[in-house]
Amino acid sequence: MREHTSMLERVGADVVAVRSVEQLDDLDGLVMPGGESTTIAYLLTTSDIRPTLEKKIEDGLSVLGTCAGLILLAHEILDGRSDQWSFDVLPLAVRRNGYGRQISSFETLVNVKGVGEVPGVFIRAPKIETWSEDLEVLAFHDHGDGEHPVLVRRERIWGCSFHPELTNDERIHRLFVDAL
Ligand code: GLN
Repeated sequence: MREHTSMLERVGADVVAVRSVEQLDDLDGLVMPGGESTTIAYLLTTSDIRPTLEKKIEDGLSVLGTCAGLILLAHEILDGRSDQWSFDVLPLAVRRNGYGRQISSFETLVNVKGVGEVPGVFIRAPKIETWSEDLEVLAFHDHGDGEHPVLVRRERIWGCSFHPELTNDERIHRLFVDAL
């Protein structure tokens, strides 16, 4: 979270780290960070944030989900835990650890539409396996098995397979903040 916060501040946003449901008020946008999607989903449920956040997203809150955050936004989770839920706001199916496990984490340049090449850090990253026509794909990556989207958007909801906060390049955060 600290890394996302400093990136967002660098591109001019006022940032709060959301830990309680009240803090969801008055947000223009929310970053759902990486980590472990099952744990984040569990915490969203036990903290009671889930229903309020669901409503805020429905009412137009912008969200950028990175890595585990992307999994939480997906329509379908492949290789998820049997009870794993998601907000179902990005029309895609994503495979957990689809680029391999920890040992297969890697960094590569990703060519983002309208931006250029940005460094992409993939850590047990989710792979988008199928996606709908109305999903805007801003970047693809070919990991030897054909092109898969790694940065996508549908209206106010953005998803990113990699970790844009773990580099020194703030352009993905700028894209998101400029669109708020
Ligand atoms: N593999 C993790 C999950 O399933 C995501 C990894 C990450 O966020 N770096 O939640």
